[in-house]
Amino acid sequence: MPDDERLKNAKFLCHRFCPPSCILDKSLGLHERMLEVRPHWSVQRREEQHKRIDLGEKVPFDIALPLPAKDRGFAETALGVELFREIFECQHCGRCCSTPGAGLVLENGDFERIARFIGSQKRLKSLCRRDKDSGCWILRQPCPFYDRGCTIYPVRPLTCFQYPLHPPLKEMPYHLAVDAFCPAARKLAKETLGWWIICEGNWARLFGSGRESLKGSVYRRIP
Ligand code: SF4
Ligand code: SF4
Repeated sequence: MPDDERLKNAKFLCHRFCPPSCILDKSLGLHERMLEVRPHWSVQRREEQHKRIDLGEKVPFDIALPLPAKDRGFAETALGVELFREIFECQHCGRCCSTPGAGLVLENGDFERIARFIGSQKRLKSLCRRDKDSGCWILRQPCPFYDRGCTIYPVRPLTCFQYPLHPPLKEMPYHLAVDAFCPAARKLAKETLGWWIICEGNWARLFGSGRESLKGSVYRRIP
């Protein structure tokens, strides 16, 4: 079997069996003990990695995190999101709400829920545009509901509820991904660099051919 194919299979298996062992290992800090035993490229090249992550302040891209991805169809992956929520600390900078952009897509149920909350469909429509192709309402950005905090917080759109989590990267479909634009997400990505040692240890075991060939395989789409 070609190496790419074997690596893909190993990652799939790793993801499939990750939550019971890896999530617990990571939340208990086992990676730190493993890092004492042997160094890992992600922390050896910490300075370089930090610089690349910091580019997210100006250039839009996503960063894969060493936590299993959501919406992969396995109930266990919810544990990855759970741990992410436990350790993610929003800095309340408001950048995600107050930055100009193409607009925020209102998903199923968002429009009705927000309209009920503000008491007017007409007002909400005046703050949105309709996407011709999908028929979705797109809330303008910067967000009109931001006023030193979210004024519709209990009914905020699904996208805001999930932010800074983004759909998994194509290259890393089994890991959570975050928007590098968010400073708290960048901080968390830096803090979890060493966590890859557990993922790669598992991949290497599943791959069955040593760790060298896995070097540098976990960070993608960082320009
Ligand atoms: S950009 Fe990130 S840190 Fe800032 S308010 Fe949004 S989620 Fe919080
Ligand atoms: S709805 Fe609230 S959380 Fe979402 S962008 Fe607007 S102010 Fe921010």
